[in-house]
Amino acid sequence: MAKQPMLKFISVDRDMPQKRDADTRNQDFDEIYAEFAAAKAEEQSSRCSQCGVPYCQNHCPLHNNIPDWLHLTATGRLEEAYQVSQATNTFPEICGRICPQDRLCEGNCVIEQSGHGTVTIGSVEKYITDTAWEKGWVKPVKPAHERTESVGIIGAGPGGLAAADMLRRAGVQVTVYDRYDRAGGLLTYGIPGFKLEKDIVMRRNKQLEDSGVTFVMNCEIGKDVSFAELQAKHDALIVATGVYKSRDLGGPGAGAKGIVKAIDYLTASNRAANFGDTVAEFESGELNASGKKVVVIGGGDTAMDCVRTAVRQGATSVKCLYRRDRANMPGSQRETQNAEEEGVQFEWLTAPKGFKGDAVEAVIVEKMRLGAPDASGRQSPEVIEGSDYDEPADLVIKALGFSPEDLPTLWDQPELEVTRWGTIKSEFTTGRTAMPGVYAIGDIVRGASLVVWAIRDGRDCVEAILQDMNAKAAVAAE
Ligand SMILES: Cc1cc2nc3c(=O)[nH]c(=O)nc-3n(C[C@H](O)[C@H](O)[C@H](O)COP(=O)(O)OP(=O)(O)OC[C@H]3O[C@@H](n4cnc5c(N)ncnc54)[C@H](O)[C@@H]3O)c2cc1C
Ligand code: SF4
Repeated sequence: MAKQPMLKFISVDRDMPQKRDADTRNQDFDEIYAEFAAAKAEEQSSRCSQCGVPYCQNHCPLHNNIPDWLHLTATGRLEEAYQVSQATNTFPEICGRICPQDRLCEGNCVIEQSGHGTVTIGSVEKYITDTAWEKGWVKPVKPAHERTESVGIIGAGPGGLAAADMLRRAGVQVTVYDRYDRAGGLLTYGIPGFKLEKDIVMRRNKQLEDSGVTFVMNCEIGKDVSFAELQAKHDALIVATGVYKSRDLGGPGAGAKGIVKAIDYLTASNRAANFGDTVAEFESGELNASGKKVVVIGGGDTAMDCVRTAVRQGATSVKCLYRRDRANMPGSQRETQNAEEEGVQFEWLTAPKGFKGDAVEAVIVEKMRLGAPDASGRQSPEVIEGSDYDEPADLVIKALGFSPEDLPTLWDQPELEVTRWGTIKSEFTTGRTAMPGVYAIGDIVRGASLVVWAIRDGRDCVEAILQDMNAKAAVAAE
Protein backbone atom coordinates (compact mmCIF):
# COMPACT_ATOMS: atom_id res chain seq x y z
CA MET A 1 0.00 0.00 0.00
CA ALA A 2 1.26 3.53 -0.85
CA LYS A 3 2.57 5.51 2.10
CA GLN A 4 0.07 8.10 3.42
CA PRO A 5 1.66 11.48 2.60
CA MET A 6 -0.75 13.64 4.61
CA LEU A 7 -2.32 13.90 8.11
CA LYS A 8 1.07 14.33 9.78
CA PHE A 9 -0.22 16.94 12.21
CA ILE A 10 0.02 14.46 15.07
CA SER A 11 3.70 13.63 14.52
CA VAL A 12 4.98 16.88 12.97
CA ASP A 13 4.81 20.19 14.86
CA ARG A 14 3.75 23.43 13.25
CA ASP A 15 6.75 25.40 12.07
CA MET A 16 7.05 28.80 10.41
CA PRO A 17 9.93 29.84 8.15
CA GLN A 18 12.74 31.26 10.26
CA LYS A 19 12.15 34.80 11.50
CA ARG A 20 15.16 37.09 11.58
CA ASP A 21 16.31 38.19 14.99
CA ALA A 22 14.74 41.55 16.03
CA ASP A 23 18.10 43.33 16.49
CA THR A 24 19.16 42.39 12.95
CA ARG A 25 15.86 43.05 11.20
CA ASN A 26 15.52 46.47 12.86
CA GLN A 27 18.53 47.60 10.82
CA ASP A 28 16.90 47.26 7.39
CA PHE A 29 13.62 47.18 5.44
CA ASP A 30 13.96 43.61 4.17
CA GLU A 31 11.29 40.98 4.86
CA ILE A 32 11.60 39.37 8.26
CA TYR A 33 10.78 35.76 7.32
CA ALA A 34 13.15 33.52 5.37
CA GLU A 35 11.83 31.17 2.68
CA PHE A 36 10.93 27.56 3.50
CA ALA A 37 13.48 25.07 2.18
CA ALA A 38 11.81 22.51 -0.12
CA ALA A 39 11.88 19.73 2.49
CA LYS A 40 10.34 22.00 5.12
CA ALA A 41 7.54 23.11 2.78
CA GLU A 42 6.76 19.46 2.01
CA GLU A 43 6.85 18.56 5.70
CA GLN A 44 4.58 21.43 6.77
CA SER A 45 2.12 20.78 3.91
CA SER A 46 1.91 17.13 4.95
CA ARG A 47 0.34 18.23 8.26
CA CYS A 48 -2.94 19.03 6.46
CA SER A 49 -5.73 16.67 7.49
CA GLN A 50 -7.46 16.90 4.08
CA CYS A 51 -10.72 17.28 5.96
CA GLY A 52 -14.01 16.81 4.13
CA VAL A 53 -15.20 20.38 4.70
CA PRO A 54 -12.16 22.63 4.24
CA TYR A 55 -12.92 25.61 6.46
CA CYS A 56 -9.63 27.20 5.39
CA GLN A 57 -10.91 27.35 1.81
CA ASN A 58 -14.31 28.67 2.87
CA HIS A 59 -12.66 31.45 4.88
CA CYS A 60 -10.24 32.44 2.13
CA PRO A 61 -11.90 35.30 0.21
CA LEU A 62 -10.63 33.74 -3.03
CA HIS A 63 -11.78 30.23 -2.06
CA ASN A 64 -8.31 29.01 -2.89
CA ASN A 65 -8.13 25.25 -3.30
CA ILE A 66 -5.79 25.00 -0.31
CA PRO A 67 -6.08 21.25 0.49
CA ASP A 68 -5.18 20.36 -3.11
CA TRP A 69 -2.10 22.57 -3.34
CA LEU A 70 -0.95 21.40 0.08
CA HIS A 71 -1.26 17.77 -1.07
CA LEU A 72 0.64 18.52 -4.31
CA THR A 73 3.38 20.31 -2.35
CA ALA A 74 3.67 17.50 0.18
CA THR A 75 4.16 15.02 -2.66
CA GLY A 76 6.75 17.15 -4.49
CA ARG A 77 4.45 18.07 -7.42
CA LEU A 78 5.24 21.76 -7.15
CA GLU A 79 4.52 22.90 -10.68
CA GLU A 80 1.02 21.43 -10.43
CA ALA A 81 0.63 23.05 -7.01
CA TYR A 82 1.50 26.38 -8.65
CA GLN A 83 -1.06 25.84 -11.44
CA VAL A 84 -3.81 25.08 -8.91
CA SER A 85 -2.82 28.01 -6.70
CA GLN A 86 -2.68 30.60 -9.52
CA ALA A 87 -6.01 29.44 -10.95
CA THR A 88 -7.90 31.26 -8.18
CA ASN A 89 -5.39 33.89 -7.02
CA THR A 90 -3.76 36.53 -9.24
CA PHE A 91 -0.98 37.27 -6.72
CA PRO A 92 -0.51 34.20 -4.47
CA GLU A 93 3.01 35.14 -3.35
CA ILE A 94 1.71 38.54 -2.20
CA CYS A 95 -1.27 37.13 -0.29
CA GLY A 96 0.99 34.47 1.24
CA ARG A 97 3.07 37.32 2.66
CA ILE A 98 0.50 39.85 3.81
CA CYS A 99 -2.94 38.28 4.31
CA PRO A 100 -3.93 38.30 7.98
CA GLN A 101 -4.04 34.50 7.88
CA ASP A 102 -4.85 34.30 11.58
CA ARG A 103 -8.26 35.85 10.76
CA LEU A 104 -8.80 34.02 7.44
CA CYS A 105 -7.56 30.63 6.24
CA GLU A 106 -5.26 29.62 9.10
CA GLY A 107 -7.60 30.86 11.81
CA ASN A 108 -10.18 28.37 10.53
CA CYS A 109 -7.90 25.39 9.93
CA VAL A 110 -9.49 22.29 11.45
CA ILE A 111 -6.29 21.07 13.09
CA GLU A 112 -5.85 24.53 14.67
CA GLN A 113 -9.33 24.09 16.14
CA SER A 114 -8.28 20.70 17.55
CA GLY A 115 -5.27 22.27 19.28
CA HIS A 116 -2.48 20.98 17.03
CA GLY A 117 -1.51 24.35 15.53
CA THR A 118 -2.65 25.44 12.07
CA VAL A 119 -1.03 24.38 8.83
CA THR A 120 1.16 27.34 7.81
CA ILE A 121 -0.93 27.96 4.70
CA GLY A 122 0.33 31.47 3.90
CA SER A 123 4.01 30.46 4.00
CA VAL A 124 3.38 27.47 1.74
CA GLU A 125 1.41 29.64 -0.70
CA LYS A 126 4.31 32.11 -0.81
CA TYR A 127 6.83 29.29 -1.24
CA ILE A 128 4.95 27.72 -4.17
CA THR A 129 4.78 30.92 -6.24
CA ASP A 130 8.24 32.22 -5.29
CA THR A 131 9.55 28.88 -6.57
CA ALA A 132 7.41 29.22 -9.70
CA TRP A 133 9.05 32.60 -10.40
CA GLU A 134 12.50 31.12 -9.81
CA LYS A 135 11.82 28.20 -12.15
CA GLY A 136 10.31 30.39 -14.89
CA TRP A 137 6.79 28.91 -14.62
CA VAL A 138 5.20 32.36 -14.24
CA LYS A 139 4.68 33.66 -17.75
CA PRO A 140 3.11 36.75 -19.32
CA VAL A 141 -0.49 36.23 -20.41
CA LYS A 142 -0.98 35.23 -24.05
CA PRO A 143 -4.70 35.31 -24.85
CA ALA A 144 -5.99 32.73 -27.34
CA HIS A 145 -7.52 35.56 -29.37
CA GLU A 146 -7.59 39.36 -29.13
CA ARG A 147 -10.87 41.23 -28.71
CA THR A 148 -11.47 44.74 -30.01
CA GLU A 149 -13.15 46.08 -26.84
CA SER A 150 -11.09 48.14 -24.43
CA VAL A 151 -11.39 48.73 -20.71
CA GLY A 152 -9.90 51.66 -18.81
CA ILE A 153 -8.97 50.97 -15.20
CA ILE A 154 -8.53 53.90 -12.83
CA GLY A 155 -6.12 52.79 -10.11
CA ALA A 156 -3.15 50.40 -10.30
CA GLY A 157 -3.62 48.82 -6.87
CA PRO A 158 -4.21 45.09 -6.36
CA GLY A 159 -7.88 45.40 -7.38
CA GLY A 160 -7.15 47.19 -10.64
CA LEU A 161 -4.20 44.93 -11.46
CA ALA A 162 -6.13 41.72 -10.78
CA ALA A 163 -8.85 42.97 -13.14
CA ALA A 164 -6.21 43.91 -15.76
CA ASP A 165 -4.77 40.40 -15.62
CA MET A 166 -8.16 38.70 -16.02
CA LEU A 167 -9.17 41.02 -18.86
CA ARG A 168 -5.97 40.28 -20.78
CA ARG A 169 -6.59 36.54 -20.32
CA ALA A 170 -9.87 37.13 -22.17
CA GLY A 171 -8.07 39.13 -24.88
CA VAL A 172 -9.59 42.51 -23.93
CA GLN A 173 -7.44 45.64 -24.50
CA VAL A 174 -6.54 47.21 -21.15
CA THR A 175 -5.20 50.61 -20.11
CA VAL A 176 -4.48 51.28 -16.44
CA TYR A 177 -4.31 54.91 -15.27
CA ASP A 178 -2.70 55.91 -11.97
CA ARG A 179 -1.68 59.17 -10.37
CA TYR A 180 1.46 57.63 -8.90
CA ASP A 181 4.65 57.07 -10.88
CA ARG A 182 4.80 53.32 -10.09
CA ALA A 183 2.01 50.75 -10.26
CA GLY A 184 0.94 48.65 -7.25
CA GLY A 185 -1.12 51.13 -5.20
CA LEU A 186 -0.68 50.44 -1.48
CA LEU A 187 1.40 47.34 -2.30
CA THR A 188 4.06 49.75 -3.58
CA TYR A 189 3.76 52.86 -1.41
CA GLY A 190 1.67 51.88 1.65
CA ILE A 191 2.86 48.49 2.88
CA PRO A 192 6.51 48.60 4.05
CA GLY A 193 9.27 46.44 2.56
CA PHE A 194 9.67 44.41 5.77
CA LYS A 195 6.23 42.89 5.02
CA LEU A 196 6.45 42.92 1.23
CA GLU A 197 9.70 43.57 -0.61
CA LYS A 198 9.16 45.82 -3.58
CA ASP A 199 10.78 43.67 -6.26
CA ILE A 200 7.93 41.18 -5.65
CA VAL A 201 5.46 43.88 -6.72
CA MET A 202 7.60 45.31 -9.53
CA ARG A 203 8.03 41.93 -11.22
CA ARG A 204 4.21 41.57 -11.29
CA ASN A 205 3.92 45.04 -12.86
CA LYS A 206 6.43 43.97 -15.51
CA GLN A 207 4.57 40.70 -16.12
CA LEU A 208 1.37 42.69 -16.75
CA GLU A 209 3.19 45.05 -19.11
CA ASP A 210 4.59 42.03 -20.95
CA SER A 211 1.03 40.68 -21.10
CA GLY A 212 -0.03 43.72 -23.11
CA VAL A 213 -1.43 45.97 -20.37
CA THR A 214 -0.80 49.66 -21.13
CA PHE A 215 0.08 51.73 -18.07
CA VAL A 216 -0.47 55.49 -18.06
CA MET A 217 1.27 56.70 -14.92
CA ASN A 218 1.43 60.16 -13.31
CA CYS A 219 -2.10 60.64 -14.57
CA GLU A 220 -4.74 61.76 -12.09
CA ILE A 221 -8.27 61.31 -13.34
CA GLY A 222 -10.25 64.46 -12.60
CA LYS A 223 -7.12 66.58 -12.97
CA ASP A 224 -4.90 65.47 -15.86
CA VAL A 225 -7.67 63.69 -17.76
CA SER A 226 -11.41 63.91 -17.14
CA PHE A 227 -13.61 60.94 -16.34
CA ALA A 228 -15.79 61.84 -19.34
CA GLU A 229 -12.76 61.64 -21.67
CA LEU A 230 -12.03 58.12 -20.42
CA GLN A 231 -15.67 57.12 -20.87
CA ALA A 232 -15.51 58.25 -24.48
CA LYS A 233 -12.27 56.33 -25.05
CA HIS A 234 -13.16 52.93 -23.56
CA ASP A 235 -16.03 50.44 -23.76
CA ALA A 236 -16.04 50.08 -19.99
CA LEU A 237 -14.36 51.70 -16.98
CA ILE A 238 -13.35 50.18 -13.66
CA VAL A 239 -12.93 52.52 -10.71
CA ALA A 240 -10.31 51.01 -8.36
CA THR A 241 -9.01 54.14 -6.66
CA GLY A 242 -8.79 52.96 -3.05
CA VAL A 243 -9.38 55.24 -0.04
CA TYR A 244 -6.87 57.96 0.72
CA LYS A 245 -8.54 60.64 2.85
CA SER A 246 -6.94 60.29 6.30
CA ARG A 247 -9.22 60.51 9.32
CA ASP A 248 -8.07 63.41 11.46
CA LEU A 249 -7.66 64.36 15.12
CA GLY A 250 -9.08 67.34 16.94
CA GLY A 251 -8.17 68.85 20.29
CA PRO A 252 -5.86 71.69 21.31
CA GLY A 253 -2.61 71.83 19.37
CA ALA A 254 -3.78 69.35 16.71
CA GLY A 255 -2.28 71.51 13.96
CA ALA A 256 1.22 71.59 15.52
CA LYS A 257 4.29 70.97 13.40
CA GLY A 258 5.48 67.38 13.67
CA ILE A 259 1.99 65.81 13.62
CA VAL A 260 1.80 63.93 10.34
CA LYS A 261 -0.45 61.55 8.43
CA ALA A 262 0.46 57.86 8.29
CA ILE A 263 0.06 57.59 4.52
CA ASP A 264 2.46 60.52 3.91
CA TYR A 265 4.95 59.07 6.38
CA LEU A 266 4.85 55.53 4.92
CA THR A 267 4.95 56.72 1.30
CA ALA A 268 8.04 58.83 2.00
CA SER A 269 9.72 55.91 3.74
CA ASN A 270 8.86 53.43 0.99
CA ARG A 271 10.19 55.78 -1.65
CA ALA A 272 13.42 56.59 0.21
CA ALA A 273 14.23 53.18 1.73
CA ASN A 274 13.00 50.85 -1.01
CA PHE A 275 13.42 52.77 -4.25
CA GLY A 276 16.21 55.20 -3.33
CA ASP A 277 14.05 58.19 -4.40
CA THR A 278 14.95 61.64 -3.10
CA VAL A 279 12.02 62.77 -0.96
CA ALA A 280 12.31 66.37 0.25
CA GLU A 281 10.18 65.84 3.40
CA PHE A 282 12.23 62.79 4.33
CA GLU A 283 15.54 64.58 3.80
CA SER A 284 14.36 67.59 5.84
CA GLY A 285 13.36 65.32 8.74
CA GLU A 286 9.67 66.23 8.53
CA LEU A 287 8.73 62.64 7.61
CA ASN A 288 11.71 60.89 9.17
CA ALA A 289 11.76 59.39 12.68
CA SER A 290 15.53 59.29 13.01
CA GLY A 291 16.62 60.45 16.48
CA LYS A 292 13.05 61.28 17.54
CA LYS A 293 10.61 60.26 20.23
CA VAL A 294 7.76 58.91 18.15
CA VAL A 295 4.13 58.44 19.14
CA VAL A 296 1.80 56.62 16.74
CA ILE A 297 -1.94 56.91 17.29
CA GLY A 298 -4.12 53.99 16.19
CA GLY A 299 -4.39 50.21 16.56
CA GLY A 300 -4.78 48.92 13.01
CA ASP A 301 -2.37 47.51 10.44
CA THR A 302 -1.35 50.99 9.31
CA ALA A 303 -0.34 51.90 12.87
CA MET A 304 1.70 48.67 13.13
CA ASP A 305 3.49 49.53 9.88
CA CYS A 306 4.26 53.04 11.16
CA VAL A 307 5.71 51.95 14.51
CA ARG A 308 7.92 49.34 12.87
CA THR A 309 9.07 51.82 10.22
CA ALA A 310 9.97 54.33 12.93
CA VAL A 311 12.09 51.70 14.72
CA ARG A 312 13.99 51.02 11.48
CA GLN A 313 14.55 54.71 10.84
CA GLY A 314 16.35 54.98 14.19
CA ALA A 315 13.75 56.60 16.47
CA THR A 316 14.95 56.95 20.08
CA SER A 317 11.62 55.60 21.34
CA VAL A 318 8.41 54.42 19.69
CA LYS A 319 5.08 54.29 21.52
CA CYS A 320 1.67 53.32 20.19
CA LEU A 321 -1.49 54.76 21.75
CA TYR A 322 -4.68 52.80 21.27
CA ARG A 323 -8.01 53.55 22.92
CA ARG A 324 -9.10 49.92 23.40
CA ASP A 325 -7.12 46.97 24.76
CA ARG A 326 -4.99 44.43 22.96
CA ALA A 327 -7.83 41.91 22.57
CA ASN A 328 -9.97 44.53 20.86
CA MET A 329 -7.46 46.06 18.48
CA PRO A 330 -8.20 45.79 14.76
CA GLY A 331 -4.58 45.12 13.73
CA SER A 332 -3.18 41.63 13.28
CA GLN A 333 -1.92 39.98 16.50
CA ARG A 334 1.05 38.61 14.60
CA GLU A 335 2.15 42.09 13.51
CA THR A 336 1.66 43.43 17.05
CA GLN A 337 3.92 40.71 18.39
CA ASN A 338 6.52 41.52 15.72
CA ALA A 339 6.36 45.19 16.76
CA GLU A 340 6.81 44.30 20.44
CA GLU A 341 9.81 42.13 19.64
CA GLU A 342 11.28 45.09 17.75
CA GLY A 343 11.02 47.35 20.80
CA VAL A 344 7.71 49.16 20.33
CA GLN A 345 5.84 50.04 23.54
CA PHE A 346 2.05 49.78 23.47
CA GLU A 347 -0.02 52.03 25.69
CA TRP A 348 -3.37 50.24 25.65
CA LEU A 349 -6.56 52.08 26.68
CA THR A 350 -5.18 55.55 25.98
CA ALA A 351 -6.24 58.35 23.65
CA PRO A 352 -4.83 61.77 22.74
CA LYS A 353 -6.67 64.74 24.25
CA GLY A 354 -4.41 67.42 22.80
CA PHE A 355 -0.82 68.35 22.01
CA LYS A 356 1.77 70.71 23.52
CA GLY A 357 4.20 72.94 21.64
CA ASP A 358 4.09 74.82 18.31
CA ALA A 359 6.41 72.13 17.09
CA VAL A 360 4.97 69.18 18.96
CA GLU A 361 6.69 68.43 22.30
CA ALA A 362 4.16 66.16 24.01
CA VAL A 363 0.85 64.41 23.57
CA ILE A 364 -1.68 65.03 26.34
CA VAL A 365 -2.94 61.50 26.90
CA GLU A 366 -6.09 60.47 28.70
CA LYS A 367 -6.62 56.98 30.02
CA MET A 368 -9.65 54.99 28.96
CA ARG A 369 -11.65 52.00 30.16
CA LEU A 370 -13.99 49.74 28.22
CA GLY A 371 -17.65 50.46 28.91
CA ALA A 372 -20.94 49.01 27.73
CA PRO A 373 -21.09 47.38 24.31
CA ASP A 374 -22.32 49.59 21.45
CA ALA A 375 -24.84 48.59 18.72
CA SER A 376 -22.17 46.40 17.06
CA GLY A 377 -21.56 44.54 20.31
CA ARG A 378 -18.09 46.07 20.74
CA GLN A 379 -17.29 47.65 24.12
CA SER A 380 -17.01 51.43 23.77
CA PRO A 381 -13.98 53.16 25.25
CA GLU A 382 -14.78 55.72 27.98
CA VAL A 383 -12.50 58.42 29.37
CA ILE A 384 -11.27 58.04 32.96
CA GLU A 385 -11.69 61.61 34.18
CA GLY A 386 -8.60 63.21 35.73
CA SER A 387 -6.23 60.60 34.34
CA ASP A 388 -4.37 62.90 31.90
CA TYR A 389 -0.61 62.74 31.55
CA ASP A 390 1.98 64.14 29.12
CA GLU A 391 3.73 61.75 26.75
CA PRO A 392 6.87 63.42 25.33
CA ALA A 393 6.97 63.30 21.52
CA ASP A 394 8.65 65.11 18.67
CA LEU A 395 6.96 63.17 15.88
CA VAL A 396 3.30 62.13 16.10
CA ILE A 397 1.88 59.90 13.39
CA LYS A 398 -1.89 59.74 12.93
CA ALA A 399 -2.99 56.27 11.83
CA LEU A 400 -6.71 56.50 12.40
CA GLY A 401 -8.01 55.01 9.19
CA PHE A 402 -9.03 56.24 5.78
CA SER A 403 -12.17 57.35 4.05
CA PRO A 404 -12.93 57.92 0.36
CA GLU A 405 -12.35 61.09 -1.57
CA ASP A 406 -15.50 62.75 -2.95
CA LEU A 407 -15.29 61.22 -6.42
CA PRO A 408 -18.67 62.39 -7.82
CA THR A 409 -17.58 66.01 -7.19
CA LEU A 410 -13.92 65.60 -8.13
CA TRP A 411 -14.91 63.89 -11.37
CA ASP A 412 -18.02 65.96 -12.04
CA GLN A 413 -20.13 62.79 -12.16
CA PRO A 414 -23.17 63.32 -9.94
CA GLU A 415 -24.71 60.08 -11.28
CA LEU A 416 -21.89 58.07 -9.69
CA GLU A 417 -23.84 56.98 -6.61
CA VAL A 418 -22.09 56.77 -3.26
CA THR A 419 -23.09 55.38 0.13
CA ARG A 420 -23.41 57.55 3.21
CA TRP A 421 -19.76 56.78 3.92
CA GLY A 422 -18.73 58.11 0.48
CA THR A 423 -17.77 54.69 -0.90
CA ILE A 424 -19.06 53.95 -4.39
CA LYS A 425 -22.30 51.99 -4.52
CA SER A 426 -21.73 48.89 -6.59
CA GLU A 427 -22.95 45.30 -6.56
CA PHE A 428 -20.51 43.32 -4.43
CA THR A 429 -20.38 40.29 -6.72
CA THR A 430 -20.10 42.14 -10.04
CA GLY A 431 -18.84 45.66 -9.36
CA ARG A 432 -21.65 47.11 -11.53
CA THR A 433 -22.53 50.69 -10.53
CA ALA A 434 -25.62 52.72 -11.35
CA MET A 435 -23.79 54.11 -14.43
CA PRO A 436 -23.87 51.78 -17.46
CA GLY A 437 -20.40 50.54 -18.36
CA VAL A 438 -18.88 51.77 -15.08
CA TYR A 439 -17.75 49.24 -12.47
CA ALA A 440 -16.13 49.79 -9.07
CA ILE A 441 -14.02 47.47 -6.94
CA GLY A 442 -11.70 47.22 -3.92
CA ASP A 443 -11.39 49.72 -1.10
CA ILE A 444 -13.37 52.44 -2.91
CA VAL A 445 -16.39 50.12 -2.56
CA ARG A 446 -15.64 48.30 0.70
CA GLY A 447 -13.86 51.06 2.61
CA ALA A 448 -10.34 50.27 3.90
CA SER A 449 -10.15 46.49 3.57
CA LEU A 450 -7.62 43.87 2.48
CA VAL A 451 -5.52 43.08 -0.56
CA VAL A 452 -7.14 39.66 -0.95
CA TRP A 453 -10.61 41.23 -1.13
CA ALA A 454 -9.47 43.75 -3.76
CA ILE A 455 -8.14 40.83 -5.84
CA ARG A 456 -11.43 38.97 -5.43
CA ASP A 457 -13.41 42.03 -6.52
CA GLY A 458 -11.17 42.55 -9.55
CA ARG A 459 -11.65 38.95 -10.67
CA ASP A 460 -15.42 38.94 -10.10
CA CYS A 461 -15.86 42.25 -11.87
CA VAL A 462 -14.14 40.97 -15.01
CA GLU A 463 -16.62 38.08 -15.21
CA ALA A 464 -19.45 40.63 -15.16
CA ILE A 465 -17.74 42.86 -17.75
CA LEU A 466 -17.28 39.91 -20.10
CA GLN A 467 -20.93 38.90 -19.65
CA ASP A 468 -22.04 42.47 -20.42
CA MET A 469 -19.70 42.72 -23.43
CA ASN A 470 -20.87 39.40 -24.81
CA ALA A 471 -24.51 40.38 -24.35
CA LYS A 472 -23.87 43.65 -26.19
CA ALA A 473 -22.02 41.88 -28.99
CA ALA A 474 -24.90 39.37 -29.34
CA VAL A 475 -27.44 42.22 -29.64
CA ALA A 476 -25.24 43.98 -32.23
CA ALA A 477 -24.99 40.75 -34.25
CA GLU A 478 -28.81 40.28 -34.40
C1 LIG B 1 -0.24 51.04 5.56
C2 LIG B 1 -1.17 49.98 5.10
C3 LIG B 1 -0.86 48.66 5.36
C4 LIG B 1 -1.69 47.65 4.92
N1 LIG B 1 -1.35 46.36 5.18
C5 LIG B 1 -2.12 45.37 4.68
C6 LIG B 1 -1.76 44.02 4.89
O1 LIG B 1 -0.77 43.72 5.54
N2 LIG B 1 -2.54 43.06 4.35
C7 LIG B 1 -3.65 43.36 3.61
O2 LIG B 1 -4.31 42.44 3.09
N3 LIG B 1 -4.03 44.64 3.41
C8 LIG B 1 -3.30 45.65 3.93
N4 LIG B 1 -3.67 46.94 3.73
C9 LIG B 1 -4.90 47.22 2.95
C10 LIG B 1 -4.66 47.05 1.45
O3 LIG B 1 -3.44 47.66 1.09
C11 LIG B 1 -5.82 47.62 0.64
O4 LIG B 1 -7.01 47.01 1.09
C12 LIG B 1 -5.65 47.34 -0.85
O5 LIG B 1 -4.43 47.87 -1.33
C13 LIG B 1 -6.81 47.95 -1.64
O6 LIG B 1 -6.59 47.78 -3.00
P1 LIG B 1 -7.24 48.76 -4.07
O7 LIG B 1 -6.77 48.23 -5.39
O8 LIG B 1 -8.68 48.89 -3.83
O9 LIG B 1 -6.62 50.21 -3.78
P2 LIG B 1 -5.14 50.80 -3.61
O10 LIG B 1 -4.14 49.77 -3.32
O11 LIG B 1 -5.27 51.91 -2.66
O12 LIG B 1 -4.82 51.40 -5.06
C14 LIG B 1 -5.54 52.48 -5.57
C15 LIG B 1 -4.73 53.18 -6.66
O13 LIG B 1 -5.57 54.16 -7.26
C16 LIG B 1 -4.80 55.32 -7.54
N5 LIG B 1 -5.70 56.47 -7.65
C17 LIG B 1 -6.51 56.98 -6.69
N6 LIG B 1 -7.21 58.02 -7.18
C18 LIG B 1 -6.82 58.19 -8.47
C19 LIG B 1 -7.19 59.10 -9.51
N7 LIG B 1 -8.09 60.05 -9.31
N8 LIG B 1 -6.58 58.99 -10.70
C20 LIG B 1 -5.64 58.03 -10.93
N9 LIG B 1 -5.28 57.12 -9.98
C21 LIG B 1 -5.87 57.19 -8.78
C22 LIG B 1 -3.84 55.39 -6.37
O14 LIG B 1 -2.70 56.16 -6.71
C23 LIG B 1 -3.51 53.93 -6.14
O15 LIG B 1 -2.37 53.53 -6.85
C24 LIG B 1 -2.87 47.98 4.20
C25 LIG B 1 -3.21 49.32 3.96
C26 LIG B 1 -2.36 50.31 4.41
C27 LIG B 1 -2.74 51.74 4.17
S1 SF4 C 1 -5.20 34.22 -0.20
FE1 SF4 C 1 -4.95 34.78 1.96
S2 SF4 C 1 -6.70 33.84 3.01
FE2 SF4 C 1 -6.50 32.86 0.98
S3 SF4 C 1 -5.19 31.03 1.33
FE3 SF4 C 1 -3.84 32.71 0.73
S4 SF4 C 1 -3.16 33.58 2.67
FE4 SF4 C 1 -4.99 32.37 3.13
